[in-house]
Parts: sequence; C-alpha cells; structure tokens
Amino acid sequence: MEKPMEWTEQAEDAIAKVPFFVRKKVRKRVEKEAAQTGKNQVTLGEVKATQTRFLSGMDAEIKGYQVETCFGSEGCPNRIASADDLVEQIEALFKQEDILSLLRQQVKGDLKFHHEFRVAVAQCPNGCSQPQIKGIGIISAARPGVTEEACIGCGACVDACQEGAIALTGDGEQPEIDFDRCLMCAKCVKACPTGTLATATQGYRVQLGGRLGRHPRLAMELPGIHTQTQVIEIVKQCIRFYREKSRHGERFSNLLTRAEFEKMVQK
Ligand code: SF4
Ligand code: SF4
Ligand code: SF4
Repeated sequence: MEKPMEWTEQAEDAIAKVPFFVRKKVRKRVEKEAAQTGKNQVTLGEVKATQTRFLSGMDAEIKGYQVETCFGSEGCPNRIASADDLVEQIEALFKQEDILSLLRQQVKGDLKFHHEFRVAVAQCPNGCSQPQIKGIGIISAARPGVTEEACIGCGACVDACQEGAIALTGDGEQPEIDFDRCLMCAKCVKACPTGTLATATQGYRVQLGGRLGRHPRLAMELPGIHTQTQVIEIVKQCIRFYREKSRHGERFSNLLTRAEFEKMVQK
C-alpha cells in the first residue's frame, strides 16, 4: 500500500487558507506533484508553487459541474448503502448535458469554480459532503419499520437513536418510532438483535437550492424518499430548469426561489 504523504505544519496551515471549494483539489494536486518529484513530505514551498499554477490555470480545470461525495465508500460505519452507482449516473448525465458549453456562452471572461453546478451526495444524514449548501443535495435514507418479530425489550434501538425518536411502549417490548424526529439513518435497525426493526423503505432524500456566499441559504427538502431512478429524474428536471432560467451563468441556487421550488414540488 502506498505510504500517505506527510505534511509539515506550515504546509497544513497554508492549505487551510485555500478557499474551501477548491481546497480538496489543490491538496490532491500538491500531493501528486510532490510524489512526481520523489518526495514523501509536503512543505510550504510545494503548496505555494502548486497553488499558483492551479489558480492561474483555473479556467482549464473547470468542467461545469462538481459532484462531491462523502467518505462513506471508504469504510465509514455510518454508511447506509452504497451510492456509487448513483454518483456515476449523475456524473454521466452532467457530462451528456454539457453544462460547460452553456456556461462558456453565458459567462463573460474566465470561468471560475463558483460558476459550476454543485451536487453533493452523502451516504447518511451526517451529511459530510455538505448537501445542505449545494444546488442539489442527496442523502441516503432508510426508513425503519416494526416487523412481526417479537421484541425482547433490550433497549438497543433506544440507545442507538441519537434523535430520541424511539420509545418502548406497553410493557417495554413494543418499539414506537416518532417519524417527526427520525432522520432515517438505520442505526436502530443495525442495533436490533431480533429483526423487530427492519428497513421498510430505502432510497434518498433530496434537497435543492442550498448555498453559501453573500446570501447563504440551507437547501429546501423535497418530501419523501426517492428511488435512484426518481433521483435521476429530479436531477434532469433541475438541469432543464437551469437551462431555461440561466442567462449569465447564475448559480442554480439563486435561480431556484422558494416559489419555483414549490412549483417543482407540485409537478
Ligand atoms: S456522510 Fe455519513 S456515511 Fe458519509 S462519511 Fe459522513 S458519516 Fe460516513
Ligand atoms: S432510523 Fe435513525 S433516527 Fe430514525 S429511529 Fe432509527 S436510529 Fe433513530
Ligand atoms: S433493539 Fe429490537 S429487540 Fe431490542 S428493544 Fe429495540 S426493537 Fe426490541
């Protein structure tokens, strides 16, 4: 296995100052360039040199969209289910739609990373890829249900639920789920030794229109849990909407007002 690259404290401080939306890319690039010159440690000098090269050639790096994922696929115990296939499908869709050409026609001057259409996929409600502040945020979800299997009243589900969404009722052997609190993380299902709790519906929550910047806003959530096919349809709908409304390469989140979102929900 390849040894991870070491970073000096000064190099870490310098990378922490790179704007967050390009930090991951610059970090990867620094490591790649350091490795190519046979180094196993990144110093301040390497960060500065790569950063300058990267920022001066930014236009060539832009692909018109970014699909960010969390680290769920790298063995995170909180992951509900793999979203790798969905991510591939979304990437393919954006490539096919050629948003980059649209942006090049609409934006005067060089394209910047903030022009790109941003999508984030998180494989549990912890949302490490920050779906709440992206144009389209997708979160894996597993809605629990109570099966016919007898409950032994062990309380493991109550302990596992960080939301306080489960109570044992009756004589302490009947789990009851408060779906107003439940974030559909499947932790109770994983904890239940008897199968009394099982996943009733699995899919994705979808949030739209989140952003940071001058007028930050958390994304608005579409109701329900969506299948992979439905998520792809929603992404297509968002791209169509963007094509219709964008005039100067505005961000999708700025175009999607609350009223436009409500219209989308009703469709
Ligand atoms: S969002 Fe969940 S599954 Fe993904 S890395 Fe974070 S904790 Fe793990
Ligand atoms: S799915 Fe998660 S949030 Fe919902 S009841 Fe189970 S542990 Fe609690
Ligand atoms: S974890 Fe399962 S068996 Fe234990 S109290 Fe909860 S539902 Fe009952």
